[in-house]
Amino acid sequence: STVWSEMPMGPPDPILGLTEAFNKDTDPRKVSLGVGAYRGDDGKPLVLDTVRKAEKIMLEKALNHEYAGIVGLPDFTKLSLAFAYGKNADVLKERRVAGVQTLSGTGACRVMGELMARFRGQGTPIYVPNPTWGNHIPIFKNSGLEVRKYRYYDPKTVGLDFQGLLSDVQAAEDDSLFLLHACAHNPTGVDPTREQWAELSKLMKAKKHTVFFDCAYQGFASGDSEKDAWAIRRFVDDGHCIALAQSFAKNFGLYGERIGALSVVCNDADEAARVTSQLKLVIRPMYSNPPIYGARLVTEVLSDPALTQEWSAECKAMADRIISMRTELRSCLERLGSKRSWEHITSQIGMFCYTGLTTEEVLKIRGDAHIYFTNDGRISMAGVTTSNVEYIAKSIFTVTG
Ligand code: PMP
Repeated sequence: STVWSEMPMGPPDPILGLTEAFNKDTDPRKVSLGVGAYRGDDGKPLVLDTVRKAEKIMLEKALNHEYAGIVGLPDFTKLSLAFAYGKNADVLKERRVAGVQTLSGTGACRVMGELMARFRGQGTPIYVPNPTWGNHIPIFKNSGLEVRKYRYYDPKTVGLDFQGLLSDVQAAEDDSLFLLHACAHNPTGVDPTREQWAELSKLMKAKKHTVFFDCAYQGFASGDSEKDAWAIRRFVDDGHCIALAQSFAKNFGLYGERIGALSVVCNDADEAARVTSQLKLVIRPMYSNPPIYGARLVTEVLSDPALTQEWSAECKAMADRIISMRTELRSCLERLGSKRSWEHITSQIGMFCYTGLTTEEVLKIRGDAHIYFTNDGRISMAGVTTSNVEYIAKSIFTVTG
């Protein structure tokens, strides 16, 4: 026998495995509401016009395919940081943000996990919301951290358990590491209000916690990327030396290009240079350097004010379509006479709707109606269209009454 013949079959990924099952399904009614990737009202993936334009500009430049540096393309990182922290952010003027290009948001989280395990020690706890994006848990575990959960979502109100959240932040040992979703919390679609963010920032400060923002949906939540960066900027204004993972998968529709950034706000430029040097030491043996295609596209768009403005409108159109499908799905369910409250469909924000459906109900809907979404009841609103919303509502209604 070989090492290979001893290997057991691994379980399918809870989200990507769903896509595999969907692809195998031959029923014409099938609907995919699993993966968080945007679809137009025609149900097809969307390439933004601004991205097409950037591709054209890029092609005309006839660039070469040399390696990027370990930290990626400097122009991209600069624009990416301005996008998150704000063009006129003091921390950027003072050159005290260490920033590197990463393999999208996932890569940023992993690099951060590795850095923490290296400097805080193997088994250092990282507190993540309960629930959180499923991949957060193995990302940080595999980095060598111990994943602990803080209270976030209250199934009774289908909303934020703010008191529980504050209690858990308070109860954690001082100087702990906390992961927060910057906006459009995945999977719940439940975000703190501005007042709640401000209170949380104050408590995090008092507890000397290190805050790590995961920002995968800037622009996708409200349709306005400035608004969606509010929490990040507030924490920085409050003097937090935050770390930040950014992804351009959703807001630019660049999923497969793996384009994102990791940054750390430092006390001064010298500290930022040291942090950058350590990030390089983490990255180099992992994947040497990041891909350049997506970085070039984002750079073309964000370095041109006219293209940026056009992008902004396109991003808003995606967010608006999702918001209108929320309204539509909710009113369909209400029109059918559902006894449950579906108010949370419209109060939640971002790509996902956390329906409150039980795993049993989810499996029944999958079996009977061929509608695929995760067992925790999370629906990707991006897959809901004017032509399938009624079918989805009816199928949910049939199972829930
Ligand atoms: N963080 C969160 C909260 C997400 O929802 C996602 C995407 N599903 C990511 C990070 C990472 O996505 P990507 O690696 O494609 O940027």
